[in-house]
Amino acid sequence: MPDTPNLVRRTPWPESASRPVGTPIQPSVVYASDSPDALDAQYEGRAEGYTYAREGHPNADVLAAMIDRMEGAEGGLMTGSGMAAVTAVLLGACRAGDHVVGGDQLYGRSLRLLRDDLPRLGIATSLADPTDAEAMAAALRPETRLVLVEVVSNPTLRVADMEGIARLCRDRGVLLAVDNTFTTPRGWQPFAHGADIVIHSVTKLLAGHSDATLGYVAARDPDLRAAIRTLAVTMGFTPSPFDCWLAERGLYSFPLRYDRAEENAARLADHIAGLPGVARVLYPLRPDHPDHNRAAGLLGDRGGNMVSFEIAGGRAAANRLSRAAPQIAFAPTLGDIGTTLSHPASSSHRGLTPEARAALGITEGFFRVSVGVEDIELLRRDFATAIAAAVD
Ligand SMILES: *Cc1c(COP(=O)(O)O)cnc(C)c1O
Repeated sequence: MPDTPNLVRRTPWPESASRPVGTPIQPSVVYASDSPDALDAQYEGRAEGYTYAREGHPNADVLAAMIDRMEGAEGGLMTGSGMAAVTAVLLGACRAGDHVVGGDQLYGRSLRLLRDDLPRLGIATSLADPTDAEAMAAALRPETRLVLVEVVSNPTLRVADMEGIARLCRDRGVLLAVDNTFTTPRGWQPFAHGADIVIHSVTKLLAGHSDATLGYVAARDPDLRAAIRTLAVTMGFTPSPFDCWLAERGLYSFPLRYDRAEENAARLADHIAGLPGVARVLYPLRPDHPDHNRAAGLLGDRGGNMVSFEIAGGRAAANRLSRAAPQIAFAPTLGDIGTTLSHPASSSHRGLTPEARAALGITEGFFRVSVGVEDIELLRRDFATAIAAAVD
């Protein structure tokens, strides 16, 4: 019998005088050290290096550094999802007895965290309308530790009074955390406008291809940053190296994708507004948007890639619409390179009563479009066909 080669002993990585141009994927969970002294040096911060992937790995750090540059941040952290980032902020920054104020139209799972989970852990929460800084002020309590808002709400695309809220938080010594997923650092930069913490669902526009689930969080204060990181590492909110690598690859084209999608969105909004049977169109830069003046002041000409619209005819018309546009993925997400269509009444807002939905203006004929980078003529045609089929 010939000797079986000892396959368990790892084969060394081939030497190369040249370096790869693309970022390598590093899936290793563990890292070997020379000695206990060498490990001490690493744990005590005297030597750089990785020890165990839950504590950090190169693919996460490369990606975080890229988003840091876009956000004007330092020491950002990647997490396994956008919700892991939101959770890391709330549990890392708050303790039992604290109070948190959230925007009343936050992302659905963020709302759920504030309504159901934080109170269970002894952290009180309130929701208030972020388009009205006085309503936010009225919700503050002496023990309020943090305010969490999104700049542009889902799916009604209301624009928060970010200047008023930042002033309020500064005056009252409350941390301001901004979920910048919808606006992206290309549309608005929270740190340049008084935020203490920036959060992203990288799953969406930044990664951009609907194939990686990731989050990002950065805090301005180094102590707060360390507290959030420690919480995330302890709770295991770690991202996968492969997802980080995919998102890094996606991020290289983010500015091109975003600019094109945004230009398409502005044109598609105007096109849809002119189609028969359309009751209303929501796009922040359109003059008929309820927050048009604030949007122009805050976002300039960066209206983003999201458009919402409403048709008459209830659920039957909504079914006809999505069926008449099979090329446009009917899927409850946003930020993909291609245009996607979602129907909040049957997805993100299905947990609300019809009355609560009506109060937000979300009827059975309400759709949200995440506009992609397709040829605008193609999009015009698809939506004209789909809306005509729905309202006939
Ligand atoms: C999708 C989303 C999240 C959650 O992100 P996941 O990556 O799905 O966990 C949080 N905030 C906003 C605004 C989102 O759109």
